[in-house]
Amino acid sequence: TGTGASLEITGLTVGYGGAPVLDGLDLRLDAGEVVALLGANGAGKTTLLRALVGLVPAAGSVRLDGHELAGLRTEQRARRALALVPDGQSVVAELTVDENLRLGALWRHRGAAREAAVAEVYDLFEPLARRRVSAGHQLSGGERQMLALGRALVAEPALLALDEPSLGLAPLVVAHLMEVLRDAARQRGMTVLLAEQNVTGALSVAGRGVVLDLGRIVADAPAATLAADSALRRAYLGF
Ligand code: ATP
Repeated sequence: TGTGASLEITGLTVGYGGAPVLDGLDLRLDAGEVVALLGANGAGKTTLLRALVGLVPAAGSVRLDGHELAGLRTEQRARRALALVPDGQSVVAELTVDENLRLGALWRHRGAAREAAVAEVYDLFEPLARRRVSAGHQLSGGERQMLALGRALVAEPALLALDEPSLGLAPLVVAHLMEVLRDAARQRGMTVLLAEQNVTGALSVAGRGVVLDLGRIVADAPAATLAADSALRRAYLGF
């Protein structure tokens, strides 16, 4: 349901007082595109995602389907259907799986539409359906990450940004998560910006990859091209 939005970032500049972490960054995503945002520790991936949703002050322009987001607060950006799944598996530990999902749908849907959006997430993530009444703190790392993703999906974002969803997960769990993300993006035509240090996992989902180094984009190419470029991987991605 819902369709993806195009994203156009121009001249994005973010600093934390010292030298800029992002310095005039330009990046464009077409509607429905899945793009992997790659780069070593400290490259600026998290900063880019946080600037996108308005969690850090930034200069420059961020347009979603042509609408300027600069100056809008995070919740106003959320109403424009921009969602961030932060790193650290941010689910509410005291609430059940079901309550966490309903929370994600709170401002977006009511009544039957909310039930339908939650049911759709259970269809995508069978492990979650089996743990509806478990509290967030009872879940495994993989289940928590699925829940964090599911909670973003119930709001049917036009642009979904994810910060290292694979962090700390076993390879099989990562593979499943990436598969679900790919299915959800395809089904919904959702635009996805996926920040990852797990290059192989991210490039298995993304059509295109962008490599960030010291706040600049040093490569932007089809996923298959990047996956095959061992010199680039060694130079910027550490293997
Ligand atoms: P990681 O995978 O470690 O999160 P990253 O690519 O997401 O890496 P960022 O977290 O965006 O990188 O960090 C980019 C740079 O900005 C780093 O040099 C970091 O030390 C600095 N930085 C990040 N957050 C802050 C902050 N709140 N205050 C000061 N400097 C910061």
